[in-house]
Amino acid sequence: MKSKMLRMSLMLLLVMLFGISVTPAFANKLIIVTTLTDMADFARAVGGDLVEVHSLATGVEDTHGVPMKPSFVPVMNRADLLILVGLDCEHAFLPALLEASKNPRIQKGHAGYVDCSRGIVPLDVPKSTDHFEGDVHPYGNPHYMLDPVMAKTAISNIFNAMATVAPQHLAEFTRNRDAYLAVLDDKIAQWLIKGKVLKGVKFVSYHEHWPYFAERFGMNYFGTIELKPGIDPTARHIEELTASMKAQHVAVVVREPQFPEKTPKRIAQQTAATMITLPIMPGGVPNTETYIKMMDYIVNTMVTAVQAVK
Ligand SMILES: [Zn+2]
Repeated sequence: MKSKMLRMSLMLLLVMLFGISVTPAFANKLIIVTTLTDMADFARAVGGDLVEVHSLATGVEDTHGVPMKPSFVPVMNRADLLILVGLDCEHAFLPALLEASKNPRIQKGHAGYVDCSRGIVPLDVPKSTDHFEGDVHPYGNPHYMLDPVMAKTAISNIFNAMATVAPQHLAEFTRNRDAYLAVLDDKIAQWLIKGKVLKGVKFVSYHEHWPYFAERFGMNYFGTIELKPGIDPTARHIEELTASMKAQHVAVVVREPQFPEKTPKRIAQQTAATMITLPIMPGGVPNTETYIKMMDYIVNTMVTAVQAVK
């Protein structure tokens, strides 16, 4: 009897402590800011009605340079969570916004700063610490979200952050996450079956967005039109790339919507390759508003291009 009462008062104390430490920051919905649209889609999937999600990007921007808008700072000031790609993907625009937000909850090192690259083993990590000037991938390639299996690591990081700052909603977050992962896993199985024809197919792209996608689907990522990530091509680089593409029969040129069509189109014409435009985050092209719709679009478009060549 005595121990039962003790347990009850302990529980009461815990509830009170919880209430004091957690509730005032977000009496209503959890306010979430994401840098890019893929993470916004995941946050909505896990948070459901319990969250209000704002993405800084709309989907058509360069992931390394989302143009700043005056609306960003006030919403970041109110945010409970800031969800980002990490690996310095957002280095050109996020640090200044974080400082301007004057929001201690979402600063690096706090529970509200959610780096989705946690647990990701990056590809193409520069061997030397003497970084190529202007290279926007200083800690390895940050475009892991284009591998739908690795995107699950991001979903897990988002879920953990939500559960940490709003533990009272753990059951609902868990239910939502499990339901979403069930759908995503089904889709991944379908994409891999459909993508079997991509095995060994050589392709180039404008920016180095596709190493994780290529690895997942067994494609041969032949090269990029950019000289280095974030660095414009030189005439000599384009000449060399075009010559080696011809010699090696590279069939597909991927152009990402944030880059002008002119150079990829010319390279495709000169090498008799097919140029396709692929989004690199949801909303990049029409009918890709969600992550799953975007991956559907990417796999279908790539497969169609490859089948047309074969
Ligand atoms: Zn990049």
